[in-house]
Amino acid sequence: MKLATIGVGNAGSKVIDRMVEFEQATGRDLCRHTLVINTARTDLAKPEHVPEDRRLLIGETHKKAKGHGVGGDAAIGAEVAKTEIDEIRRIFDDVEIHEVDAILVAAGLGGGTGSGAAPVVIEELQKMYDEPVYGLGMLPGKYEGGRPALNSARSLQSFVNKVDNFIAFDNDAWRSRGQTIEEGYEEMNRELATRIVTLLAAGEVDESEVGENAMDSSDIMRTMEVGGVSSIGYASTDVDTPDDGLLSRFSDEEVSDMESTDAAKIKGLVRRAVNSRLTVPCDVASAERALIIFAGPPSEISRKGVESARDWLEQETETVDVLAGDDPRTGSDTLAAVVLLSNVTDTPRIKEIQDQAVDAQDTIQQQEAVREEEIESLITDDNNDLDPIV
Ligand code: GDP
Repeated sequence: MKLATIGVGNAGSKVIDRMVEFEQATGRDLCRHTLVINTARTDLAKPEHVPEDRRLLIGETHKKAKGHGVGGDAAIGAEVAKTEIDEIRRIFDDVEIHEVDAILVAAGLGGGTGSGAAPVVIEELQKMYDEPVYGLGMLPGKYEGGRPALNSARSLQSFVNKVDNFIAFDNDAWRSRGQTIEEGYEEMNRELATRIVTLLAAGEVDESEVGENAMDSSDIMRTMEVGGVSSIGYASTDVDTPDDGLLSRFSDEEVSDMESTDAAKIKGLVRRAVNSRLTVPCDVASAERALIIFAGPPSEISRKGVESARDWLEQETETVDVLAGDDPRTGSDTLAAVVLLSNVTDTPRIKEIQDQAVDAQDTIQQQEAVREEEIESLITDDNNDLDPIV
C-alpha cells in the first residue's frame, strides 16, 4: 500500500517518524507523504525523518497555546485545529493524492493536541478525499490517571466515528518494568512501527515481482473497510540465506520432511503472532475479518504452512473472512507474520478506560462545583452587605 501519513501531537509524530525509519532500514516504501502537526514548537523539532517543510505549527496565535502546546486540554486542541483548518488544508495541496491508496492519521489519545486536533483533521480529510482515512491511536496507561483516560475515551468516540478503521495501541499492555517512561515509549514506538509498516507496506512491491500468492493492497483495504477498532499481532524469526542448490542434495523423503517442518514453522509463527502481545489485547473471536501477511524470502514461505495457518486462524476468529498472502522480500534475513484482526468488539482495556473516564468526569465536575462555591464564599462578606463595583 502507499500511504500519506500524518502525525498529530507529540506521540503521533514520534510514531510516524519511527515508521519512516523502519521502512528506510528495511527497504520498504510505504509513506509517500509525511506530515506532522503540533501546537508545541519544541515537540515539532523532535522527528528525525520528517522534512522541515512537512512540519506544521498550529495555535501560535491562540491566547493559551502560543506555540507552547495546549496543556493536555483536548478542547483547545480541537479549537486550534478548527481555527486553522485553512492552513491545514493548504499543506495537503502538496499531496498528490492519486499516488496514495489511503491516509493514516496517528495520535496519542490521552493528551490535548492529538486527541483534540486529530479528529478535526480527519473530518477535513474525509471531506477532501475519497481515499480511506485510517486512524492509529495510542491509548494512555492506567497509571497516567483520570484526565488522560477522559481525553482518550472521548477522542476514541470521535476517531472511530470518523475514520474508516482505527488501529489501537495500548500503552498499558506494552509497559515494561525497569524502564523510564521515555525509554518505554521509545521501545513501544519501534514495536508499533514494525507492525504497522510490515502490515501496510505489503502489496507495495512492483507488479513485475509479484507472485500469485502476494497480498494486494486492495485485500488489506477490504479487511479494514468494516470499520471499528482493530488490533495487530506480530511474530518473526531469523532465516538463513537460502542456498538454491541445497534441496537437490537431499532425497525426496528428506525434502518432504523438511517441507512439513517448514509448514509447521509457518503455522507456529502465526500462532505466536496471535497469542503474544497484540497492539490492543482483545478477544480474537470478536474480530469481524482477519488477514495474515508473511513478509520474508519467498523460499521460506511454505504454501502448506500458509494454508494450515489460515485454517487455524479461521477457527480462532470464528470467521470465514480470513485472507492470507505474502509480501516477498528476497534477501531479507527475517520471516515475519503479521496478523490484522479487524473490527474487534471485545477489548477489555477500552471498557476500563471508559470507566476510569466516567469517574474522572464526575470528580472534575464535583471539584469545579466545590471550587465555585469556595470562591463565592471567599469574596462575599458574612452578611452579604457589599456589592461588586461593576
Ligand atoms: P499531545 O502532544 O498533546 O497530543 O500529547 P502527547 O502526544 O505528548 O501525549 C498524549 C498521550 O500519548 C499520553 O497521555 C501518552 O499516553 C501517550 N504518549 C506520549 N508519548 C508517547 C510515545 O512516544 N509513545 C506512545 N506509545 N505513547 C505516547
